[in-house]
Amino acid sequence: MAIAYQQQELHIEQLAASSLLQRYGSPCYVYSKQQFLANFHAFEQAATGLDALICFAVKANSNLAVLSLLGKAGAGADVVSGGELRRALAAGIPAERIVYSGVGKNSADMQLALNAGILQFNVESVPELERLSRVATECGKVAAVAVRVNPDVDAGTHEKIATGKAENKFGIAWQQVDEVYALAARLPGISIQGVDMHIGSQITSLTPYRTAFERMLELVQRLQAMGHPIQTIDIGGGLGVLYPDTKQAVSIADYMALVREVFANSQCRLIMEPGRSLAANTGVLLCQVEYIKQGPQKRFLILDAAMNDLLRPAMYGAVHDVWPVRQVPERELVRYDVVGPVCETGDTFSLGQLLPELHAGEAVALGQAGAYGAVMASFYNTRAITPEVLVSGNQSALIRRRIEVDDQLNWDQLPDF
Ligand SMILES: *Cc1c(COP(=O)(O)O)cnc(C)c1O
Repeated sequence: MAIAYQQQELHIEQLAASSLLQRYGSPCYVYSKQQFLANFHAFEQAATGLDALICFAVKANSNLAVLSLLGKAGAGADVVSGGELRRALAAGIPAERIVYSGVGKNSADMQLALNAGILQFNVESVPELERLSRVATECGKVAAVAVRVNPDVDAGTHEKIATGKAENKFGIAWQQVDEVYALAARLPGISIQGVDMHIGSQITSLTPYRTAFERMLELVQRLQAMGHPIQTIDIGGGLGVLYPDTKQAVSIADYMALVREVFANSQCRLIMEPGRSLAANTGVLLCQVEYIKQGPQKRFLILDAAMNDLLRPAMYGAVHDVWPVRQVPERELVRYDVVGPVCETGDTFSLGQLLPELHAGEAVALGQAGAYGAVMASFYNTRAITPEVLVSGNQSALIRRRIEVDDQLNWDQLPDF
């Protein structure tokens, strides 16, 4: 484990969390390069012998340094905007390893992707398909397309991250798939290449995957029988990770064993889009205790990190591990509500968290912060945007500087009137 206690102090690889805080200030995100590579290699090794491309879901952690290290290891990218596409390309990920997903692709972003020559557009609606056909024709390109199909399975996950049910905004409903492929076959500037699915995120059981995969394989065979040249099967991402409230999780190896079982004989190239499972356990949000506030019923641990740094608890009711940076065994255990300083009740990291007694100024790490952490930062409450640091062995580097309040003030302008 790249993030662990050594001599009673939390370390990221070989560096003590307290020394990182001293160097980069509080709060700061810190990621382990080694853990990123270990996660990627777990996918890659389990895919040995399969024709598979692992496209990191850039939205989970879009820092250029992260994309670059994964790209060098052989990963592709799954992007959901022109901005993410530009990040992936800037990080050196070749266009032929980039797939483009999302329900609201605009014309300019389509053009960008066509000119870059990406591997595949994952198309989510008929109007998008028609627009892509127009944009591609206008710039003299052909868009390689997979239709994102909604296999109508309940991934058993949080309602805000379920995407594969018939009622969700994502993908083409199962009963409309045939007509959408027929349309794609007729449209100029469109070349049918594959099928695509993504049923949700933080999925902690193989059951919904098995159902969805088997449906997709059947679909591929049916589409091929109709004469559509299906060569890629994009199975999306969504594999869950261990947060403190996760009751069970599926290992990368078990997930990949299922992928192999269902698709090994499909004769298609497999595309995977893992985000969280590649990134979540690579990072911590290091911060400090600002105050201990004793209320009539509760004791609050008020941190200097907030929901504008790490939104998941406020947005999804998510829980992250809270680790004191220094372990002091003789300290008694106390229950805290762990909160941030933002003026929202939702700015709460955890309720009734049992922790060794802490004092103002002491350092704390929020765990599982490598995915959907820094990428969701906002300017809410006009707080500085937290920097990001990458650690490799005994080296560390700032990979995004703190965006100070001064920077933010300069972005506003006063009107003439
Ligand atoms: C968010 C997303 C992913 C990644 O999901 P994880 O749960 O982070 O693995 C993959 N594909 C698409 C289309 C997505 O929207």
